[in-house]
Amino acid sequence: MHLKSVTLKGFKSFAQSTTFALEPGVTCIVGPNGSGKSNVVDALAWVMGEQGAKTLRGGKMEDVIFAGTSTRGPLGRAEVQLTIDNADGALPIDYSEVTISRTLFRTGASEYAINGQTCRLLDVQELLSDSGLGREMHVIIGQGRLDTVLQASAEDRRGFIEEAAGILKHRRRKEKTVRK
Ligand code: ATP
Ligand code: MG
Repeated sequence: MHLKSVTLKGFKSFAQSTTFALEPGVTCIVGPNGSGKSNVVDALAWVMGEQGAKTLRGGKMEDVIFAGTSTRGPLGRAEVQLTIDNADGALPIDYSEVTISRTLFRTGASEYAINGQTCRLLDVQELLSDSGLGREMHVIIGQGRLDTVLQASAEDRRGFIEEAAGILKHRRRKEKTVRK
C-alpha cells in the first residue's frame, strides 16, 4: 500500500486544483517559507478525518477553505482527494485503488466519500484504522509533537500503545455500543 496522489482544491493556499503525484518511497516537498508545504501535510491529515482545527493550524474548521488574496476572492468550499494504491489489499475493501475525499462548504456542510460513494466519517476511520494511517495514528509528526509523546501522561502513553496495537478501533466500537 502506498499513497499515489493527493489533490487539493480550495484547501488553504491552494485555490486552484493542484495534484501531487507520489511514487513509492520517499517524497520531499521543498519550497520557500510560506509557500504551502505544511498545507499539503495538513490536507493529508484532513482528508483522513482530522477533526481538530488546531491540529490543522487554524482557529476553526472553516479556516481550511481558501480565504482569498489581494488578487483573488475567497472560495466557498475546500476539497481534498487522496488516492491510495491498495494492490496488496492492506485496506479492507475490494478495490486495488481507493480514493478518499472530503469536502467542506462554508455553510458548515461536510461530505466524505470512498471511491465516489458518499459515506460517513466513521467509514473513513474504519477503513484506515488497521492500515497504519488515519486520524489517530501518529504517522504525521508535526513540529512539537515529539515533545507531546515524551511528556505524555501514563494514560496517554497507554493510548499510543493501544493505537499501535490496533486496539483503539475496538475500544471506539465498544464505547459506541455502550452509549446506545
Ligand atoms: P514554512 O517553510 O515556513 O514552514 P510552508 O511552506 O510550510 O512554510 P505553509 O504553512 O504550508 O507554508 O503555508 C502558509 C501559507 O498558507 C500562508 O501564506 C497562509 O496565508 C496560507 N494560508 C493558510 N490558510 C489559508 C487559507 N485558508 N486561504 C489562503 N491562504 C491560506
Ligand atoms: Mg511548514
